[in-house]
Amino acid sequence: MNQAANEVILQVALTFDHDAISSDVEKGHRPFDRSIGEFGPRVGLPRILNILARESVPATFFVPVHTAHTWPESLAAIVAGGHEVGCHGWAHEDHAALPPGDERDLIVRQKAALTAAAQNAGYRHPIIGFRAPYWSLSEQTLRHVEDAGFTYDSSLAWEETRITPVRHGDQHTIERSILGTNGSLLEAPISHWLDDWPWFEPGRGGGPASPPSAFAEVALAELRLAHARAAADPTLRSGVLTYTFHPECIGRGSRAEVLEAIIAAGKALGGVHFTRLDAAVHAAK
Ligand SMILES: [Zn+2]
Repeated sequence: MNQAANEVILQVALTFDHDAISSDVEKGHRPFDRSIGEFGPRVGLPRILNILARESVPATFFVPVHTAHTWPESLAAIVAGGHEVGCHGWAHEDHAALPPGDERDLIVRQKAALTAAAQNAGYRHPIIGFRAPYWSLSEQTLRHVEDAGFTYDSSLAWEETRITPVRHGDQHTIERSILGTNGSLLEAPISHWLDDWPWFEPGRGGGPASPPSAFAEVALAELRLAHARAAADPTLRSGVLTYTFHPECIGRGSRAEVLEAIIAAGKALGGVHFTRLDAAVHAAK
């Protein structure tokens, strides 16, 4: 093995939003819809944790407080697997739809409650990451997230892999936008393109679900290209390519093979380092 083979060229984060039934309960959904969410803690999550353990790959799980309180054994299994736990609402609320005071209060309360639940499950790290449910941010959300003591957010799609500061105080008018100033909160960028949900769960009237091969084609092409770009440009090597999955979605049936294919392709490329987002963000600071 030569030295280049040990070099990290591309960091890849496999992230999972462990929504379970939180959004169904918050929206008052009926039993069948809730059962789709419950597939997550019952089947999808154990399947995913088995794959990650077998492949020795760490990951990040964004967990609504509702999920942590309803399935504490699920949270314990995530912690036992050596994975990161991050915030994702209390009951998967649309933060942008909340009155400003309520939103600030919710962000503080969810961090405290998830920290307590995670510590109860044996978690020995601070909770430093936030991902907005539905990636729905108000103009103030990231200010509140920063004020609540988080280190990073993972809800914006403005970069491919670079970890950059969030910006506060943008002023937008039709004439022009005046961009604000950088905060201390860092952004680990996401892509809706690399999210399992729109491919597989388009919803009522949203057309048929994609076959796993369609999602795999995109997911693997993005991995290969991000690796090639980072190989050519060392400034990209402190970034992270982030996939967004949901246990009830990627963990169902043959879709889980896409997750396995991403891990296998990453290992075959050489220089791919699968990482928790907290580790990637610390390394980028
Ligand atoms: Zn979610």
